[in-house]
Amino acid sequence: MSASTLPGVPTGLFIGGQWEDAHATYDVENPATGRVLASVADGTAGDARRAMDAAVDAQTSWAQTAPRERSEILRRAYELVVERTDEFARVMTLEMGKPFAEARGEVAYGAEFLRWFSEEAVRISGDTTTTGDGRNRIIVSRVPVGPCVLVTPWNFPLAMGTRKIGPAVAAGCTMVFKPAHQTPLTALLLTEILSEAGLPDGVLNTVTGMDASAIVTEWMESGHARKVSFTGSTNVGKILLKQAAENVMRSSMELGGNAPFIVCADADIDKAVDGAMIAKLRNMGEACTAANRFYVHRTVAQEFTTKLADRMAALTVGDGLADGTAIGPLVDAAGLDKVESLVRDAVSKGARVVTGGERVGERGYFYRPTVLTDVPTDAQMASTEIFGPVAPIYVVDDDDAAITAANDTEAGLVAYLYTQDIDRAWRLSDRIEAGMVGVNTGLVSNPAAPFGGIKESGLGREGGRVGIEEFLEYKYLAIPKG
Ligand code: NAP
Repeated sequence: MSASTLPGVPTGLFIGGQWEDAHATYDVENPATGRVLASVADGTAGDARRAMDAAVDAQTSWAQTAPRERSEILRRAYELVVERTDEFARVMTLEMGKPFAEARGEVAYGAEFLRWFSEEAVRISGDTTTTGDGRNRIIVSRVPVGPCVLVTPWNFPLAMGTRKIGPAVAAGCTMVFKPAHQTPLTALLLTEILSEAGLPDGVLNTVTGMDASAIVTEWMESGHARKVSFTGSTNVGKILLKQAAENVMRSSMELGGNAPFIVCADADIDKAVDGAMIAKLRNMGEACTAANRFYVHRTVAQEFTTKLADRMAALTVGDGLADGTAIGPLVDAAGLDKVESLVRDAVSKGARVVTGGERVGERGYFYRPTVLTDVPTDAQMASTEIFGPVAPIYVVDDDDAAITAANDTEAGLVAYLYTQDIDRAWRLSDRIEAGMVGVNTGLVSNPAAPFGGIKESGLGREGGRVGIEEFLEYKYLAIPKG
């Protein structure tokens, strides 16, 4: 039996509008304490099959609903999520560690995708033109792509779900949804709220489980799914792209980052440090948008490093629910091991620890905010997402060196640039190979903006005006003029 120490949070499978117990369960842990929070349904390929069947059954009637109806479901869901902000925030802090204040911030951010796409649902438009020879009308309309496979990571358990579910609902697609195994509870609470908001049975089907490959492969090979929208690591993204190729499925991929953070000689250093604190430490550094490599001009490197290290050293590390905590635990033992090993590797190759450089306490997966200098470019962390509160600083002598180093990666999600010269800002952002550039800001994510990367960071965009496009097909009618 699935069970929870969190009253009111569902723990079962949600298929065809019904909550079900699975044959087996797995334990969800609090990374701050290692204690079990809940036993959640451990779905199987068979459960996944039934979920897909439900999505397929619901697709035709769902596609025919009025846009306003879909819009109002999303609007109600937005209001319900906002009403239950503290409950969502608490669940997120408990299952993945982020400090409660940050979790409340994610609720606002994640809910906004529901509101944004409730507004987009009624703005889906087509096009009417005439053929060049004047003989035919060309009527172009937009139709839902069909049943969608949604797979999300643990680092933003609410927002990564709403960023996909919002546009899929707005477009009229049905869904099968697998959240990350570490953070099923937020996803299940969201599923319940969408149902309460009036989403018809079968439109959203949520299957949690430990065997991601079995569940998702069942969907990818079903022949019924028309689209996959995935957020997660580049390695898993590539597996899904290969599977998608078999059935020629539409694919949206939000994959790994390796963000450069460039501080030019003329930057306002205090503002750059403010931006670095957000770009590096939001979500304990466990973000695809996290600044992973700091390229700082030699003339300002000392000042930037000292100020950043002082700010980072002053932060309180602890349980995300405790007052004053700025840095919660990393998500699990594997996450902590990875950060420890990347720092050990850099230090063994000559990096110097300015602050931090160690785990905190014996229980839970805490790591101290860390600044490293003299990091050699062959350190593993130069080419690996650190996914932790570690800022490696690389000194550069000019803008060309900064841009060359920044672009020397297969990732191309986001970059940050600090300069007070507007011409330099334009010039350098033009040369940066990334889907998003934060100019004098450490935060780019916003539901109104097209989020996504180039190169191996992904395909497609989420949010903004284009977010809904990912879930729509074109349909063209050729009609002779009478
Ligand atoms: P992950 O290991 O790729 O997992 C992501 C999701 O894929 C989880 O639901 C996971 O399920 C599932 N999965 C794992 N193996 C699978 C397989 N063989 N077939 C199908 N599904 C599979 O990534 P993560 O560690 O959760 O998240 C961190 C990564 O996500 C980082 O690389 C980060 O940069 C990226 N990310 C990107 C964005 C973006 O918008 N670009 C945003 C956030 C995160 P289980 O949990 O059950 O393994």
